[in-house]
Amino acid sequence: MPVKIYHDDDADVNIVRSKTVAFIGYGNQGRAQALNLRDSEVNNIIIGNIDDDYAKQAQEDGFTPVSIEEAVRQGDILMLLIPDEDQQTVWNEKIRNNIKPNTTLVVASGYNVAFNLLDLPDDMDVVMVAPRMIGAGVRDRYVQNIPYPCFVSVEKDVSGTALATCLSIACAIGATRGNGAVSSSCREEAGIDLFAEQALWPEIMAIFREGYNVLHEAGFSDEAILFDMYLSKEPAEIFERAADEGFVKQLKYHSRTSQYGQLSTMNRHDGKDIREKFRRVLNDNILSGNFAKKWSNTKWAAEELTKEWKEVENAPIVQADQRVREVLKPDRKK
Ligand code: NDP
Repeated sequence: MPVKIYHDDDADVNIVRSKTVAFIGYGNQGRAQALNLRDSEVNNIIIGNIDDDYAKQAQEDGFTPVSIEEAVRQGDILMLLIPDEDQQTVWNEKIRNNIKPNTTLVVASGYNVAFNLLDLPDDMDVVMVAPRMIGAGVRDRYVQNIPYPCFVSVEKDVSGTALATCLSIACAIGATRGNGAVSSSCREEAGIDLFAEQALWPEIMAIFREGYNVLHEAGFSDEAILFDMYLSKEPAEIFERAADEGFVKQLKYHSRTSQYGQLSTMNRHDGKDIREKFRRVLNDNILSGNFAKKWSNTKWAAEELTKEWKEVENAPIVQADQRVREVLKPDRKK
């Protein structure tokens, strides 16, 4: 069954206009969404941020930033827009005890709600408005009146009006324009996001790594290998065409030899091992909540990430990349 898509006509912006909207975080998403709301005539906006460059930016943008605690005390709607890995700690230390009765929590990613990392008050509505776009894109597209993709969901509806509030916010940040906002859930959004991060992209990166290893072993030059694999930006172009015209249909832009090579090999690839591996990652690590539990230990998480960065520095493809880059200086703007 096709999922529900919500358009501007489904939303009443006056709902959010009648509320005090507190932003917890004025970073990538926070700034973009706050400016969009203000331009949609939402006049009661409170910016809660730690005293940093983002707070200065809020001031330059004409807001008067306050502490996170103070913003929470004033908000009818809380836009939780700090990094996912910090949300649980900040929630416990600065947010939980300052929440007014009957508020609505809005998250821009499903992670903390999906894995029950936030201790939610019983009377709180919880919704997700999750743009599939960096903050700058959310802002630029709003200003230029261009639609952008966004997931929305109601996670907890105590008031009976959570969907209306959710759509009102989505509309006010420009997310229900054009093709509309897609109905999803925190579990789905977080599940797919983590799957991409822990299954799909690592596999793709490992394939490129092994591609480099085999070609290098065969005596081909690093310059030629890396240019052919990604420095030319051909993969970026292929993915752009896949998004615009179709995952397989983009093959029509490749030579017939290339089409045959790709199709005949892919059609014979049974995918069994990888499917099994992906299932294990999805079920055992992600949906079980095992990863979220481990990742919530911020000290462990920081140490692990540092360790992984150190390890990858020694990979032959990374060293080759550095060498080639120093000599050829590929243009970043093209
Ligand atoms: P940012 O990294 O831009 O950070 C937002 C703000 O949070 C900054 O002011 C930052 O300050 C502050 N902050 C960070 N750590 C803490 C802390 N421990 N205590 C208090 N404030 C803190 O976040 P994003 O805008 O990237 O992400 C916000 C939400 O939006 C997340 O849920 C994310 O998943 C979601 N999202 C993000 C997208 C993106 O493209 N970035 C796209 C779609 C959704 P400082 O850096 O000075 O510490």
